[in-house]
Amino acid sequence: MGRAFVYVILGGGVAAGYAALEFTRRGVSHGELCIISEEPVAPYERPALSKGFLLPENPARLPSFHTCVGANEERLTPKWYKEHGIELVPGTRVKSADVRRKTLLTAAGETISYKILVIATGARALKLEEFGVSGSDAANVCYLRDLADANRLVNVMQSCAGGNAVVIGGGYIGMECAASLVINKINVTMVFPEAHCMARLFTPKIASYYEDYYESKGVKFIKGTVLSSFEFDSSGKVTAVNLRDGSRLPADIVVVGIGIRPNTSLFEGQLTLEKGGIKVNGQLQSSNNSVYAVGDVATFPVKLFGETRRLEHVDSARKSAGHAVAAIMEPEKTGEFDYLPFFYSRVFTMSWQFYGDNAGEAVHFGDYSGHTFGAYWINKGHLVGSFLEGGTKEEYEAIAKATRLKPEIEDLIELQKQGLDFALTV
Ligand code: FAD
Repeated sequence: MGRAFVYVILGGGVAAGYAALEFTRRGVSHGELCIISEEPVAPYERPALSKGFLLPENPARLPSFHTCVGANEERLTPKWYKEHGIELVPGTRVKSADVRRKTLLTAAGETISYKILVIATGARALKLEEFGVSGSDAANVCYLRDLADANRLVNVMQSCAGGNAVVIGGGYIGMECAASLVINKINVTMVFPEAHCMARLFTPKIASYYEDYYESKGVKFIKGTVLSSFEFDSSGKVTAVNLRDGSRLPADIVVVGIGIRPNTSLFEGQLTLEKGGIKVNGQLQSSNNSVYAVGDVATFPVKLFGETRRLEHVDSARKSAGHAVAAIMEPEKTGEFDYLPFFYSRVFTMSWQFYGDNAGEAVHFGDYSGHTFGAYWINKGHLVGSFLEGGTKEEYEAIAKATRLKPEIEDLIELQKQGLDFALTV
């Protein structure tokens, strides 16, 4: 049993949705494109799962956040795929791939062959078991990567209003979930091993702004330690969390956000991997020229930094997908992907954007007791990264532009004084 397509997108997440839109814009014919996804629904904007989806009132629900609404583009519902002659194969896991034969084998036993494959398998949440702690299967321990996880989180959250949550991990999943739990009137304690939240991006000064704000909302922070074990009741539900520093936290719900691992396993030994992802060139093409990789799973050259990176951000998924499709459909007209890394988050009523690289020395600016503040990163005499909380559209555009220009910076004190004006006038 088998089907054959010209183009196959493996994975049905953010990158797949944006790739599909680009394929139709560039004139794919009916029956040429197939999308295979383990998820039961058409591609959607994953970031909604830790934000609007968790709101107690008027929560976001599909179909409202199918791709590509996150970039103010068309919303691609299952009907859209049908109308455009795209074969959407949901609820189907691919269990093996053969890039030499150009075939994929689904868990149901179907062989799907392609001329060109776009790998958009994203990443999976790391489990506590990978750090030597068992208990992830307990009914009130939640991860958050896909819609099924988000539905589960909502159900557990609703069953313990007024109760205690322990959030494991101080990255953006932990921060966004903690904010949502508070909005749902649950008492939150965050636990992470680093000295402050968002340690991969924030400086201590930026982090302390958010931590103070969270504390003002009742969130407690326990830093510099990790989970060592769970306590369970007779039904197998977690009742408390034990930490390595000896403390014990009662828990009605545990949310774990401790990082992700790209889904590369189908291609190990077949394609070149680098930095944990599938290595691609500036056309998003892998070491096999019939295979492209986009989104969280791809390690691509970031021209601006002169090195390869694997990014785990929605904007990079959208744009790498678009670029790969351009390179597939119009190779002569498509140059190298020239991407400015961009990442954002929204918590409570706050929201920030970050562009570039947080390498070198940070120069903080703005009002850290108010609503609008930020930082620039200066590396080897050039501005390489910019962060802004509470900016306007124009201000975010200005920091993006300034970061892309990589201007030379001679005087850090002067830069600090100029603050946002520097980006607005550069
Ligand atoms: P994904 O969207 O993860 O899609 C991968 C798809 O591949 C999934 O559908 C999966 O089921 C499928 N798949 C994998 N293996 C197989 C297989 N073997 N067979 C069939 N199908 C398979 N980024 C930001 O910049 N800002 C944010 O605020 C933000 N918030 C986020 C909130 C949450 C809760 C999460 C989970 C992520 C968030 N992100 C955010 C990150 C962003 O969503 C990801 O970078 C983006 O989804 C990556 O897109 P992708 O298509 O590469 O992977």
